Amino acid sequence: MDFNDTDQEAEFRREVRDWIARNAPTELWETLNSFSFGQAKMDSDALMRHSKAWQRKKHVGGWACLNWPKAYGGRGATPIERVIWQQEEGVYAMLSAVFTLGIGMCGPTLLENASEAQCRRHLPKIASGEEVWCQLFSEPSGGSDLAGLRTSAKREGDEWVVDGQKIWTTGAHYSDYGLLLARTDFTVPKHRGLTMFYVDMKTPGIEVRPIKQLNGQSEFNEVYFTGARIPDAQRIGDVGAGWHISLTTLMNERLAVGGVMPTGFPEMLAFCEALQTDAGPAIEDPDICAHLAGWAIRHLGLKHTSNRTLSALSNGKLPGPENSIAKLVISQTLQEIAHYAMSLQGDWGILVDEADAVDEGRFQAYLLRSPGMRIEGGTDEILRNIIGERVLGLPADIRVDKTMPFNQIPVSGTAPSHPAAARSDVVDNRAV
Ligand SMILES: Cc1cc2nc3c(=O)[nH]c(=O)nc-3n(C[C@H](O)[C@H](O)[C@H](O)COP(=O)(O)OP(=O)(O)OC[C@H]3O[C@@H](n4cnc5c(N)ncnc54)[C@H](O)[C@@H]3O)c2cc1C
Repeated sequence: MDFNDTDQEAEFRREVRDWIARNAPTELWETLNSFSFGQAKMDSDALMRHSKAWQRKKHVGGWACLNWPKAYGGRGATPIERVIWQQEEGVYAMLSAVFTLGIGMCGPTLLENASEAQCRRHLPKIASGEEVWCQLFSEPSGGSDLAGLRTSAKREGDEWVVDGQKIWTTGAHYSDYGLLLARTDFTVPKHRGLTMFYVDMKTPGIEVRPIKQLNGQSEFNEVYFTGARIPDAQRIGDVGAGWHISLTTLMNERLAVGGVMPTGFPEMLAFCEALQTDAGPAIEDPDICAHLAGWAIRHLGLKHTSNRTLSALSNGKLPGPENSIAKLVISQTLQEIAHYAMSLQGDWGILVDEADAVDEGRFQAYLLRSPGMRIEGGTDEILRNIIGERVLGLPADIRVDKTMPFNQIPVSGTAPSHPAAARSDVVDNRAV
């Protein structure tokens, strides 16, 4: 494998560097560089304003959503050109976080499944940052078992009436639109009764309630639907085809989420290089070095795994299940590193406030956010299932309720109505 740029790629990289040097908001460079856990040190209104301005500029310059077709606001670039852009955008990519779901997941889902009219209406606005989108999939009864969701959409003429609850909806509080998976038929097996829609988040009957996180921020929400009316023109694909459409979103989710997660290793190495313990420089302590060596090996393994993806992309192939490996290893590594860094800080490790804490509380912030990383975009267990089944070729998980009509699957508190229902705890999962 040759990881050097081809002549054409090198020329493209030069063009990207040149444009970024001339157009990036360099006045924000320092602020963006002193972030804490992926969050720029900027209030949320300013972050949204700067994010939209940078996205708009990229769109006007032809650098937004690089691999989308030109007709929909992209550039028609190759996947490898998109990777080159991401490598060169550097710290300014932090201004793209609010668009991760819209550009990384909802847009690609529309591209592949929506009508020409729906694509023309929304994709250019997603690309220019004018429309911010969120993903309304998970529910209290449908997270890993996404096909078990219960939010219902009932047809009334040219409209659908939606009732139910979504949860963990990232960015619902600032989104203009949401991609909604709902159940339109309760009498068929669970995967066949789902339909995909998109909703205007200002629709009457949609209520967004923020959830407060461990770290005090509120990135996620509960979203309640009470008789919310959605025009049939906002249905994506056929009635009952929602499961297959959701797989496009989930496939892109692992790419979009995994690609932006930090491992914390470079920060940890720098921290240990600077740290003085009672016994002398931390970097001379064999125990600390052994820990660092373990994380260095994982860091290199991840780099080579990502190089393998790059090489597949440059050969015109699609990324495979190795993204599940990367997401699993990255989120575990970050959590371990944060924990160890805090233990090295001794009593200072309990300080969280960035004004008092060591290294502005960087590792404390990592530790508070990392449990979520092990769940979002597929939990560790689900990722292991994917790796077991798709990479190692091991037998698949048992799926006993796959062929049972959804309304006959017992819910807690009801007696099993079918012999297989006694095992209804063994669920299908979001594996793609
Ligand atoms: C930070 C964050 C952001 C999120 N953002 C969004 C968003 O924007 N939109 C959205 O729709 N959702 C979002 N989610 C929800 C997320 O996708 C779900 O939390 C996730 O799919 C897990 O579902 P669950 O929480 O219902 O857990 P459950 O599915 O109830 O799982 C509980 C436990 O059981 C394990 N388990 C379940 N099934 C199996 C199985 N078959 N084999 C082995 N173990 C199993 C799980 O791995 C887990 O450990 C977000 C979650 C987080 C934490």
